[in-house]
Amino acid sequence: MKTEMIKFAGDVPGNAIELRVLRFEGSDKSATSAYLQSSLHGGELPGQAALHFLVPMLKKAEAEGRILGNITIVPQANPIGSNQWQAYQHMGRFEFHTQVNFNRAFPLLPDFDTSSLPGPDAPVALAQRLKAALLRLALPHDIVLDLHCDDESESYVYIADEFVEDMKDLAIALNSTAILAWDTTADAAFEEACAHPVLQMPQSERNMKRRAVTTVEFRGLTDVYADMGKGDAEGLYRFLVHRGVIRDESVKLDTEFKGLVTPLSHVEMIRAPEGGMVLYHVEPGDVVEEGAKLVTVVTTPGEPEGDITLTAPQAGRILTRRSLRYVRRGDDLLKLLGAKPSAVEKRPGTLEA
Ligand SMILES: [Zn+2]
Repeated sequence: MKTEMIKFAGDVPGNAIELRVLRFEGSDKSATSAYLQSSLHGGELPGQAALHFLVPMLKKAEAEGRILGNITIVPQANPIGSNQWQAYQHMGRFEFHTQVNFNRAFPLLPDFDTSSLPGPDAPVALAQRLKAALLRLALPHDIVLDLHCDDESESYVYIADEFVEDMKDLAIALNSTAILAWDTTADAAFEEACAHPVLQMPQSERNMKRRAVTTVEFRGLTDVYADMGKGDAEGLYRFLVHRGVIRDESVKLDTEFKGLVTPLSHVEMIRAPEGGMVLYHVEPGDVVEEGAKLVTVVTTPGEPEGDITLTAPQAGRILTRRSLRYVRRGDDLLKLLGAKPSAVEKRPGTLEA
């Protein structure tokens, strides 16, 4: 394994950052290659835990001559967001300076040529240079896994429609509950920026069996434990073996994905009609009937007549819910995966800000 440090000048003097990149060189030039990063939202750690336990497994494979394809790992993809704390709270989702989500507004390139992207010392803002650097690292690889987590959640993956059929092996390897299939746009999330050049190619040249591009949601923010991290590392390892990036005869993968494949249009995003205290009646993993009580928003504490109880618009599975029990009007509360399209009009793009 080789460690590379990419240094970035800060936007003001005296504030340089660096990005640590771990590289394993494959022995077979024609083998599938893979890029894995975690913590693009700074403090999302389940993916970082997975990579923490995966890297020693890769080192062992390297020592035994079993790494076939190039593997690049960036365990802390966002040194800017990792350092954003305010009043003792970590806030890594939006850049403090611009309020832009760190996983939006990536450059959507027409092809795999990254020469137009700004370098680490180009005269543009640091966040843009960091995004360019991540894209430059990822795009040469066939497989790109961006490891995130939700708030309180089951394990699931976002996959662009065109990739879903050939990527069920990933969901099997990771024991994902669901694949959320997106179309149109993901608001230029990292995943979309990595999928975009592929989707500009003629279908006959895309070689989708070899490719995989996804945002992995490894459960919830506080699901950071050694056993879970090891389990997720083993899942990633199984997938890399299955795709021929690593050789390991002892690893076999089931062929059938038993989870849900849900288009974003079938996701019921339940939102708070008023602000207040939230009392959940369900948790991730619950299966509910249409009309089941999901959550009560207490708008006037001490006066139950002010309670607003939201019910399931259709039968389905609870995938996620918010961890904060105090919400504002319009806030997202939970995601329910339905079997039919939601009646709520969806804007194109991601489910959340
Ligand atoms: Zn995230």
